[in-house]
Amino acid sequence: MAGIAIITEACIDTKDRACVDVCPVQCIYEYDVATGVLFSEDEAGSGVVENTHQPSPDHVAVFADSLLYVNTEECTSCTACYQPDVCPVGAIYPEEQVPDGGPGSKYNSEDPNEGHDHSFFVQLSRDVFAD
Ligand code: SF4
Ligand code: SF4
Repeated sequence: MAGIAIITEACIDTKDRACVDVCPVQCIYEYDVATGVLFSEDEAGSGVVENTHQPSPDHVAVFADSLLYVNTEECTSCTACYQPDVCPVGAIYPEEQVPDGGPGSKYNSEDPNEGHDHSFFVQLSRDVFAD
């Protein structure tokens, strides 16, 4: 199973950054409310910023810093972050497997939001990066 990674609503307010530590290209971003910038780190919480992007104000305002965002232009579909043992709440899916409510679409059984329509997050992942 492969595909661009999409972070969905189960991340909200969990945001333990386990996915950040397994991503080899630092394409998982956090929103810094103070500076208004999206930033990524090599190791979560290290304070060493690898990449930054400008967010789209309207789109980042939806969830702000309550979850993380994969930059879909930079994701290499390496599959590391959506292995079932990485995200404790099953929030990350390959794009083609994001649950849409249809039978058989669920990937990670730990996701408490299984069966909900998460296609919103596919578009949000693209829209939130303004540059
Ligand atoms: S997507 Fe999962 S692993 Fe990544 S920060 Fe959110 S809750 Fe943690
Ligand atoms: S699939 Fe790989 S490159 Fe893409 S966000 Fe996950 S760990 Fe990073």
